[in-house]
Amino acid sequence: MCLMMILSVSCAQKTAHRYQAEFLSLFDTVTTVIGYAGSNAEFTTLAEAVKSKLQEYNRLYDIYNNYDGINNIKTINDNAGIRAVKVDPRIIELLLLSKKKCELTDGAVNIAMGSVLAIWHTYREAGIDDPEHASLPPMDRLIEASKHTDIDNVIIDLERSAVFLSDPKMRLDVGAVAKGYAAEQTALYFEGKGVRRLLLSVGGNVRAVGHKLEQNNHEVPWVVGIQNPDKLSRQTELLSVNCSGRALVTSGVYERYYTVGGKQYHHIINPQTLMPADYYKSVSILCPDSGFADGFTTAIFNMPLEKGRAFIEALKDTEALWVLSDGTIAKSSGFDAYVVK
Ligand code: ADP
Ligand code: MG
Repeated sequence: MCLMMILSVSCAQKTAHRYQAEFLSLFDTVTTVIGYAGSNAEFTTLAEAVKSKLQEYNRLYDIYNNYDGINNIKTINDNAGIRAVKVDPRIIELLLLSKKKCELTDGAVNIAMGSVLAIWHTYREAGIDDPEHASLPPMDRLIEASKHTDIDNVIIDLERSAVFLSDPKMRLDVGAVAKGYAAEQTALYFEGKGVRRLLLSVGGNVRAVGHKLEQNNHEVPWVVGIQNPDKLSRQTELLSVNCSGRALVTSGVYERYYTVGGKQYHHIINPQTLMPADYYKSVSILCPDSGFADGFTTAIFNMPLEKGRAFIEALKDTEALWVLSDGTIAKSSGFDAYVVK
């Protein structure tokens, strides 16, 4: 489905109005683009260009669909144990970054867990379609699949720009890392083209370029709210942060889950238990680069608070907010400096 809404939200000056567009056709999620332009038509051109750039990444990182003339992550998966697949450098870059994230987090985020994640995906989709018969994946199937998740078996040939999965039963799943990386690369691309102000959100992966313009033409920070994971609460946002020139990436239990026996099972799987991690309702990372932050949210989601806190504190220019499963909020030491009262 492709839906696009254009609305002029405010008038900053004669030549620069703020506009917003929303797309539902990318990365199986909602993408929002907010920017400034002299007219609706001018903004539509920008928003369509942003969409088409994101679509290139979406096609390359897709694990479910083939596209004519493109070798993507699905092509790599389909050729596991068979042959190396020549791919676009943007796939190589994502895989190299993801390998590094896996190493830095002791495997808490592991794109080579596709075999395990595919089982959860099948049971979750079936359970959403037919809630009365929803069931959990059998643990013996998960354990068997987990024997095929060694990321060292993702063989990258830099010279040939090719990828080979040496374990025939291994599958890649880049769901934890692709959206933030695509958002970052897209933001950088348009910044390079001279776009000075842009707020991009790809399914909770927010990246802000430059500043926002007020009605009086003054520059003010882009302020972004962190969603309250408690969807029943009247307070829709927990707090707001200054996001100018930065990224805010959130992973939460509230978007993708299904219910079995009255209990909710979400989509972030702890590689140690092979079950959804239950420490938090959501975690958010604030740092300059959404390609860096994405995936690390998934990783700290799988870590007890003290381990996650130590991990975040050791990273330069990176802050985090955790909403624990009892609703308590924890923040890294420098987080409050970005909170907008
Ligand atoms: P969202 O996609 O909702 O923003 P995440 O960025 O945390 O949330 O990514 C979750 C997705 O990542 C899951 O749908 C699944 O495809 C994949 N995934 C789940 N657990 C892991 C894990 N431990 N390591 C790597 N990928 C994971
Ligand atoms: Mg993510």
